[in-house]
Formats: sequence, C-alpha cells, structure tokens
Amino acid sequence: MSTIFTKIINREIPSDIIYEDSEIIVIKDIKPEAKIHLLIIPKKEIATINDLDESDSTLIANMFFVAKKVAKDLWISEWYKLKFNVWKLGWQEVMHLHLHLLSNI
Ligand code: 5GP
Repeated sequence: MSTIFTKIINREIPSDIIYEDSEIIVIKDIKPEAKIHLLIIPKKEIATINDLDESDSTLIANMFFVAKKVAKDLWISEWYKLKFNVWKLGWQEVMHLHLHLLSNI
C-alpha cells in the first residue's frame, strides 16, 4: 500500500509543490508549525531513518542539498532548521521518510 506522500508524488492527492527532481519532491506542510514549513521527501518509499541502508547514502545527501537550495531560493539561508522525526514515539506520523524544513523569518 502506498503512503500518503507517494500519493502526493503521483498527483493522486493535491499539494503545493515547491521543488521536484527525479528522486526528491518538496511540498508545503498541510499543517505548518512555522511561517515556512516544507517537507523534503524522497520518492523512494523508505519508512524511517532506521530503514536506511548504505545504498541510500547519495539520496540522503541529496535531501540535504535540496534543503540548502530551497532555503537559498527562499532567502532563508540564515534562518531555518531541519528536523527528522523517527517512529511514533519520536513524533513521526507519516511512515515515509521526510525532512522538515522550518523557518519563522
Ligand atoms: P511527521 O510527524 O511524520 O514527522 O510529519 C508528517 C507531516 O506531514 C506533518 O507535519 C503533517 O502536517 C504533514 N502532512 C500529513 N498529511 C499531509 C498531506 O496530505 N499533505 C501535506 N502537504 N502534508 C501532510
């Protein structure tokens, strides 16, 4: 069964898409916790940080490079934070890996 983020990636559910390439999509969070709240999501269905393996190294690095690029494009390079929630007790609700980018600038 595909995750809600895969449905967004496949355009089965609408979302505000900020950036997309062959392996990553960036969308606006539907319930923002800050003035800017984006989700950097790999298209590959990886459930959590705990499910990463060595073959995902480049993908994970690219998620950070995309975060850096998006922050620069939005002129918030000096005012943002990045966050991974991990598993249910670690506040993760959607079991499809995603990096939160937040800024209150
Ligand atoms: P988590 O708690 O798993 O780290 O974060 C999941 C995030 O996904 C939450 O901040 C939540 O608001 C967001 N989210 C959940 N469903 C949707 C959706 O359908 N569309 C968008 N854009 N964001 C969603």
